[in-house]
Amino acid sequence: MQTLRFRIVQVLSILVVVAGVGVLAVRSSHGQSPAAKIESQNPKPETLVKPTILATDRPVMKDAARSPFAEAAAQNTLLRNDLTWTFGSKQQHGWYLYDLLIGQTLNISHDASTNDFASAIAGWQKTKGLSSNGMLDENSWMAMVTQWQSDRLKDKTPATPDQLLMAPSSDFYDPERLPELRQVERNTYAAYRQMLAAAIADPSLKLAHTSANDLAATEKFFKIVSAFRSREYQEKLRHDSPNAGSAGLAVNSPHFTGRALDLYVGGDPVDTKDSNRAIQVQTPAYLWLVRNAARFGFRPYFYEPWHWEYVK
Ligand SMILES: [Zn+2]
Repeated sequence: MQTLRFRIVQVLSILVVVAGVGVLAVRSSHGQSPAAKIESQNPKPETLVKPTILATDRPVMKDAARSPFAEAAAQNTLLRNDLTWTFGSKQQHGWYLYDLLIGQTLNISHDASTNDFASAIAGWQKTKGLSSNGMLDENSWMAMVTQWQSDRLKDKTPATPDQLLMAPSSDFYDPERLPELRQVERNTYAAYRQMLAAAIADPSLKLAHTSANDLAATEKFFKIVSAFRSREYQEKLRHDSPNAGSAGLAVNSPHFTGRALDLYVGGDPVDTKDSNRAIQVQTPAYLWLVRNAARFGFRPYFYEPWHWEYVK
């Protein structure tokens, strides 16, 4: 009996051990398969790891690596927002506000982060005798600013009364503007009216106007905010806003000539805050001026989207 009992115990314990090993074996095989199942059912974790990235991004990476401007394009992407430079004794951040002017200068419409943009910068740098690295860095950026500034009015001799005419109040952003503040140099006004007719004729701008090609009372875009300013009036403006700085209200203003027009292009009409200019440089009116004003003899002051000078 004892031997039989011992044998039963022996057999039972063997069974227990076998069963235990079996459970362990099943557990360990399950320990791998659930993870594998999750991966195959849910593709998300896979997209986070390298195989998918390699599969989809490799051709793009290859293209970028092949372009000699890949590194310049990467740098331009950063410089566009982060380049620190000084203008009008104020620190400035990036050149993103000038995308349209840069595109017009380079005669391209590519995004600043592209190899094509960097390539166009390199071509422009060559014409300026700069090292053609394709990067709009501080050196090249200041050269571009200098180019724009040199395209502006050179002769700032104040207008004499006979050179000025009084424009109708319907041309002005503020219809109540005093007559002495509605004076414009004669040729500048004729060029403005031609440019205005072209803008009105462009259906993409949808400018509200009369049959005589005047802007409607309800229309603000393209109206004159400010034109001729006398030295006395400029002094008063400078006195009223002492913090405008040299980028704002110049001592020797081109407005003295009657050939500078501040036109309404959106936002707060003449506010240099980055946030305001960021609104202005995205309006169809500003885009139109950047692309077309030169045909009528007007050149931009890059820093003030509203300020255009008649240089003919
Ligand atoms: Zn101005």
